[in-house]
Amino acid sequence: SAASRTETVEDHHQDSGHGFALRERLDAREQRGLRRELTPTERVAARSRVAADPSGDPPEFEGDEQVILASNNYLGLADDERVQRAAANAARKVGTGAGASRLVTGDTPIHRALERDIAATKETERALVFSSGYAANVGTIAALAPDVIFSDELNHASIVDGCRLARAETVIYDHADANALAAAMAERDEQAEEDESWLVVTDSVFSMDGDVAPLAAVCDAAERHGAWVMVDEAHATGLYADGAGIVGREGLGDRVQVQMGTLSKALASQGGYVAGSEALIEHLANAARSFVFSTGLAPPAAGAAREALAIAREDERRERLWTVVERLRDGLDGMGYRVLGETQILPVVVGDRGEAVALGEELAERGIVAPAIRPPTVPEGTSRIRVAPMATHTDAEIERCLTAFRAAGHAAGVLDE
Ligand code: PMP
Repeated sequence: SAASRTETVEDHHQDSGHGFALRERLDAREQRGLRRELTPTERVAARSRVAADPSGDPPEFEGDEQVILASNNYLGLADDERVQRAAANAARKVGTGAGASRLVTGDTPIHRALERDIAATKETERALVFSSGYAANVGTIAALAPDVIFSDELNHASIVDGCRLARAETVIYDHADANALAAAMAERDEQAEEDESWLVVTDSVFSMDGDVAPLAAVCDAAERHGAWVMVDEAHATGLYADGAGIVGREGLGDRVQVQMGTLSKALASQGGYVAGSEALIEHLANAARSFVFSTGLAPPAAGAAREALAIAREDERRERLWTVVERLRDGLDGMGYRVLGETQILPVVVGDRGEAVALGEELAERGIVAPAIRPPTVPEGTSRIRVAPMATHTDAEIERCLTAFRAAGHAAGVLDE
């Protein structure tokens, strides 16, 4: 019967022979305060506000709503009718799934059109889309197969995993410190072989600190050694320089050989991309295992991303996002919160993980969804609330957030009286 079958599976999990003691591993995680729960929330990432009771009717008045302040859907485009229609049209015309790897029969006109649009935005020869940003990073770094990788200490986990998969010697340099990078490169050069390939890789906007890598100085250091530079623009795509990211804003397109990003944040969809030279893209289409051995990006995701990119490139949404960001930053600063960063990500550093969790809970009680970010996601002693506003937040919602932050800060003992 089903019941005895379940028992057998459970027994097997407890088995310490050659099995996996998963219950014990979960308990250990729990004891260290590191156990996470999946918490289903109604359309949180898509909307800047949701009904307080997800099972109830859509919110009709302010007191009935929760404000979502923790989504990467920065421009609010996941909830935009034009983007939703583009996804539906792609599903109708091309199918809900690509059906096969791009190299077999899964290469469709919508993929090519999206790649042309990304390349045009980035001003590169070509672009290639992957089924996620994670897949783009691991596949690209491993396919480049560098001998030595220089990687910022706060780079995203998918870059870290790409370095591991490449089995490259990886030199971690101090966060956003181009002098440390230059010194590490100079030191490593003393023992370098003639034909080694070197890759410097960094996020442009760092997701938990909301700061920006010193890209021009990173390029300077790389060029002294003839190394290539790869930049992860996950949190910058669609937001800076008409959608061209920080590389575009700083005019570094010719000095960054690999521009990577995701379709899953400001572009409100799912998938990742790499933009660069013809040779780079042809190489990745042949050698990036996460591209070759994975089904092509789902057509609705490609359709949505294409429409979102077109909308993101118009000024209006982005300007609204910066207005919202400035208002929140000024308000939180003024209350005495420590707000890091210089981008649309506003990390409010609390320090102690218990206090950060308490602040998150006090905010939740006031209808603000902005949970605490704790170790291991951020270093011990730097627990924080990662405030991520959207262009679709109204002035009234921003005021509501600030009022809640003031009251919650006092209630949680985070703000001085
Ligand atoms: N790089 C960075 C910097 C990211 O923040 C993320 C997403 N958290 C990724 C890559 C992975 O992108 P995706 O979610 O599309 O897999």
